[in-house]
Amino acid sequence: MIKSHLRIATIPFHRPSLGEDEVEAVADVIRSGTLTMGQRTFEFERRFAGYVGARHGVAVSSGTAALHLSLDAAGVGPGDEVIVPTTTFTATAQAVIRVGARPILCDVDPATLNLDPDDVRRRITTATRAIIPVHLGGNPCKMREILEIARQRNLRIIEDAAHALPSRYFGKLIGSISEFTCFSFYATKTLTTGEGGMITTDNDEAAARMRLMRLHGIERSDGKQPGSDDSWRYSIREAGFKYNFTDIQAALGIVQLAKCDAMRDARSRIAHRYTSAFGAIDSLETPSVIENCESSWHLYILRLHLDRLSAGRDTFLERMSRKGVACSVHFIPLHLHDFYQRAYGYRPGDFRWAETEFRRCVSLPIYPDLSGEEVEYIIESVKQTVAELYVPRSIAARA
Ligand SMILES: *Cc1c(COP(=O)(O)O)cnc(C)c1O
Repeated sequence: MIKSHLRIATIPFHRPSLGEDEVEAVADVIRSGTLTMGQRTFEFERRFAGYVGARHGVAVSSGTAALHLSLDAAGVGPGDEVIVPTTTFTATAQAVIRVGARPILCDVDPATLNLDPDDVRRRITTATRAIIPVHLGGNPCKMREILEIARQRNLRIIEDAAHALPSRYFGKLIGSISEFTCFSFYATKTLTTGEGGMITTDNDEAAARMRLMRLHGIERSDGKQPGSDDSWRYSIREAGFKYNFTDIQAALGIVQLAKCDAMRDARSRIAHRYTSAFGAIDSLETPSVIENCESSWHLYILRLHLDRLSAGRDTFLERMSRKGVACSVHFIPLHLHDFYQRAYGYRPGDFRWAETEFRRCVSLPIYPDLSGEEVEYIIESVKQTVAELYVPRSIAARA
């Protein structure tokens, strides 16, 4: 392959927003000598819970661990069913499988790509124990409807809020609405600690169970949390997991949390710039947020009107990549993956809206460190690409 010397630098799909403050905070932890879970972790938990407006924050090693521990604390296990949207990352359903339960996929609302409450209702059986709404891209799900379904059918709600920090639903931050909310601090998420996760809950008993299970089921005889100091005496209450957080992660998290609103404002400005640039282009559909809600704008999911274009989404992505803009797709619906077909018998065609929208969605770069110049370059690249592929309406109608 011949390498061009004139290629412009690619705009990556994501760059984390990390500065000298984070470097200093981590250096302090290294100097302190307490690397794993200790006082900084507990401080981060208090601050995080206070920020979203929940009674407890339980910090864990990943968003996936947060989902797993929530399902465990909710008592979900073998023989149970849990409803999960097919448009999500595989972790949402895998956590269900790891407590021995069965993930029941459901379709999404084409307006938001979030789980459709009507389809959730249709999939409830006597074995259903819980629903996991996923706030895709940070765009809040219809929580009133979902909470009402849960109340009527006596189901638990575990929110997958891996994208939803900070997202607002009728004035309340996601994390303060339902019984369990699971956040991820993975490298590409809106707050990062490299890897990490958090559960917020108001349920004292569930919080205690998750604190126990995140570190081998160890309980100290003085009632304090393992990591509080270096007392050696403890007892083993359960067969727990190794899902604890570390003070290195907490140091990053505390600094990132303080910037959380400013980072959201920066993403929100980019989202509004995109929407005003693309709103009038008839081959594009801009994302919509449901009424009285605010997105974290973790993702900006643009959709293509394929009937106005001479090629599909993959060609669009390829053309963008040639122009030096790395885009992505969220997500390949779970039922199109080999594993879910093999293990649960799902087939292409099972979820109409998830598939239709998957074929035409594109995630554009959106992060605070994107410069104004880069944003304008991305906008020009999108406009140029759809112009290259444009099919005038009269021709499209005849085809
Ligand atoms: C990232 C992500 C997770 C898992 O989070 P990890 O911290 O990577 O384990 C779960 N659900 C969704 C929708 C995600 O995007």
